Amino acid sequence: MKDRFGRTIEYMRISVTDRCNLRCRYCMPDDIEKRPMNELLRYEQITELAQAAIKCGITHFRLTGGEPLVRKGVTELVRMLKNLPGTEEVTLTTNGILLPDLAGTLAEAGLDGINISLDTLKPERFTMIAGKDSGLLDRTLEGIEKSVELGLRTKLNCVLQKGVNEEEWKELIQFAHSRPIDVRFIEMMPIGCGIKVEGIGNDELMKQLLAEYPQAVPDERTHGSGPARYIRIPGFTGSIGFISAVHGPFCSTCNRIRLTSTGTLKSCLCYDTGMETSWIFKEGDPEARAALLEDAVRQATLMKPEKHCFSEPEKITEHKLMTQIGG
Ligand code: SAM
Ligand code: SF4
Repeated sequence: MKDRFGRTIEYMRISVTDRCNLRCRYCMPDDIEKRPMNELLRYEQITELAQAAIKCGITHFRLTGGEPLVRKGVTELVRMLKNLPGTEEVTLTTNGILLPDLAGTLAEAGLDGINISLDTLKPERFTMIAGKDSGLLDRTLEGIEKSVELGLRTKLNCVLQKGVNEEEWKELIQFAHSRPIDVRFIEMMPIGCGIKVEGIGNDELMKQLLAEYPQAVPDERTHGSGPARYIRIPGFTGSIGFISAVHGPFCSTCNRIRLTSTGTLKSCLCYDTGMETSWIFKEGDPEARAALLEDAVRQATLMKPEKHCFSEPEKITEHKLMTQIGG
């Protein structure tokens, strides 16, 4: 479906939970109150909504959170979404901690790709960034290897923070050296706790990277349905991606809407507007319900603003945390 600005909307990010087994300081503070489990959409409800979204032209679903792998039975949701006629891809974004246990079942359920978040390789820094025991870092590293071994399309998401891990891109990009992994750098967005943390702009990062690897060239190949721009470093198997959420030419190609874990369809990260869907599930007639859900997806798509307002944070009306919105 096209939005008001002629963009084709074909991608839905589905948050399955606002809970997480980490406490990254730019994302989820320690003392945050979580929504009761009975307020979260059930998997059958998410699947019904996805079915309606497919009718509106959505073909790609990405599960996120919070941490999607902490919700029990999430591999079953992957299977349910994957089996819907019209679904082209189901992917997932995770911190990777539970992947050593779940990667096999996810692959078997039909998962098409996985993005794993990794901001550091240094144990003491991991504790500082993620607020938990550094032993969990080994689980994430194991999860990355397992995902590659199983042949899942694997990408790393890294967020650089000034004075914290800003120089660590040099080590992180090595994952792309001899493995088929794309390593991507996401600019810190002034959303939730991210507003208090200074990130590193991708322009600056690109400058540093080109100084070290002057032989790097733009990589025009398609790497999925996201907004990342890629470069290739000769001799590297994977590519290096830049998700310039704040400073980049981002919105003109935006193709997504979001579903929060409690059933709000959101059209943009910046604004506190959206379509509530939880009430629709009280409708007993499946056909009427399907029509209402389809209408909600269309309305949410038409609500998409032309662009975000990250460069003018005073205009941001969304004050929820990333885990509550679905990152
Ligand atoms: N727990 C999963 C994970 O960490 O991959 C999925 C949810 S998390 C919110 C998704 C991604 O959003 C992670 O890569 C995280 O680093 C990123 N993120 C969280 N808050 C952010 C912010 N304020 N700016 C930029 N990226 C952010
Ligand atoms: Fe959890 Fe992901 Fe947020 Fe870190 S970035 S606190 S892993 S939801």
